[in-house]
Amino acid sequence: METEVVVIGGGATGAGVFRDLTLRGIKAILVEQRDLTYGTSSRYHGLLHSGARYAVNDKEAAKESYEENLILKETIPGSIERTGGFFVKLPQDDDEYVTKWVKACNEIGIPIEEISLESALREEPYLNKKAQAIYRVPDAAIDGFTMIIDLVADAVRRGNKVLTYHQVEDLLMRENHVVGVKVKNVYTGEIIEIYANIVVNATGSWAARVAEFAEIKINMINNRGMLAVFNQRFNKQVINRLRKPSDADIFVPAHNVTIFGTTGINVDQPDDFSLNYEELQMMLEDGSNLIPNLKQMRIIRAFAGVRPLYQENKTSEAGGRNVSRGMALLDHSARDGIEGFVTIVGGKLTTFRYMAEKTGDLVAGKIGNYKSSTTRFEVVPHRHAKEFFKEINMAPATKNKLFHWAGTRAKDLEKKMKDEEILKTVVCECEQVTLGEIEASLPNGKFNLGDIRRRTRLGMGPCQGTFCHHRAASLIVQRGLATAEEAEEAVIQAIEERQKGMQIINEGETAKQLDLMRAIYYVSLGMGKEK
Ligand SMILES: Cc1cc2nc3c(=O)[nH]c(=O)nc-3n(C[C@H](O)[C@H](O)[C@H](O)COP(=O)(O)OP(=O)(O)OC[C@H]3O[C@@H](n4cnc5c(N)ncnc54)[C@H](O)[C@@H]3O)c2cc1C
Repeated sequence: METEVVVIGGGATGAGVFRDLTLRGIKAILVEQRDLTYGTSSRYHGLLHSGARYAVNDKEAAKESYEENLILKETIPGSIERTGGFFVKLPQDDDEYVTKWVKACNEIGIPIEEISLESALREEPYLNKKAQAIYRVPDAAIDGFTMIIDLVADAVRRGNKVLTYHQVEDLLMRENHVVGVKVKNVYTGEIIEIYANIVVNATGSWAARVAEFAEIKINMINNRGMLAVFNQRFNKQVINRLRKPSDADIFVPAHNVTIFGTTGINVDQPDDFSLNYEELQMMLEDGSNLIPNLKQMRIIRAFAGVRPLYQENKTSEAGGRNVSRGMALLDHSARDGIEGFVTIVGGKLTTFRYMAEKTGDLVAGKIGNYKSSTTRFEVVPHRHAKEFFKEINMAPATKNKLFHWAGTRAKDLEKKMKDEEILKTVVCECEQVTLGEIEASLPNGKFNLGDIRRRTRLGMGPCQGTFCHHRAASLIVQRGLATAEEAEEAVIQAIEERQKGMQIINEGETAKQLDLMRAIYYVSLGMGKEK
């Protein structure tokens, strides 16, 4: 296989680079070792930063975040909810920090507005009534799953190619030149070689491992953070604690739930998604200062992601290019004498587009393409589909989900639902997922409920897939889209994965939910073996 550029990594950064290059007319192949969004870009908080969080300690990152916040709200409307946000100072928080924060936000140009406790409580009744100062900021909620899937779909629609479940096992080298990648299909074991003029390493926490294939050293700090998902969305907007950035100080509303976090512990492995009970309890203790009822609310799961933090002071002397303090674009030709290889790491999901634009500029220049990036204007085809499904008889909640979800697939889906009644079946009640959506989202290759979850939200609600995984699987078998064996394997895998995030809580209502899930799958349906 041959192309102009191979992009390794199907997270926000890789997807952003892939689309940026595509819009410049460059031929590219995106290679991801698992499904799109497997890495940190789905194991994160979901906050589109306004920059206010970084205003005091990192003005450059704050400015970049604010600029990107404005651009992404216009260009990726289908994945962003303009919730707005609050920064809340509690009596125990430092007054001096608040003064510095207000000054810094004003200097950077981040619009903040102080509001009274009374009006804040009208909007956010769960907030601590002893709060001393509350500021409104332009934070928002951003869905990493839909965003990445839509970015990649847009690039594929424009003629480029994506290979998921393909792991880069080595870089193809000719003397000091990277000329491509050696890739393994993780399902079949087939090895393919893809030759390219440039290879972009956008593998986040895995970046050091991939660079090692070319004997290049990159110093990364992998920093694991834990997050908790509540069974309801109890805040309308993002709620931040107004103090020096710390653990357990952000609540982000995401669709029907609230995501709360986070922590920061350095780990050795890029995929150390382990969960820790004490860490969760500490988070809840601290979070109760902002939301006093927190411990009475039901957590449906916990999860963890690993921050890809770049740490290498020698970058500038060695000729690499620091895009900003938070992110690094490494031109390995200048830095390490290896041609045809570029690494982009660090930053935040909020700044992925900017990182991709800078990477695109470097890569395009190297292959003699002088088109500028257009991602700051070019809107990603969005998800809204209000003009469809009007004549289809469905419950309002189900229709509402489709209005906000179906996007470019709406026309086709509407036709199929008119032709086949069964496609209107609601398979997942928590998230109102229909069989039609599931079928429209079936990725090529193996039947995998995790892949379907990332595309439809199946199993993401309060029951965590207890009632929908077996239904989805049996309907898919009935429709001839998977064998019974494939479906059973997929269900067991999905149930085991969901349990990891539930058993760390293992008390109160979540423990009962877990027992119910185990009873249904391991006892009633006799699937797998109870662990
Ligand atoms: C707990 C937590 C909360 C966060 N909250 C926020 C937030 O609210 N807002 C925000 O802006 N940022 C947030 N961040 C930061 C943000 O999530 C990350 O900076 C961003 O998602 C990194 O994206 P990425 O594409 O660089 O990496 P990733 O998303 O990790 O993507 C890298 C991809 O490369 C793939 N890969 C690795 N090796 C190979 C290989 N050999 N072959 C093929 N593919 C490979 C991986 O499978 C992965 O999918 C948070 C981070 C954490 C940990």
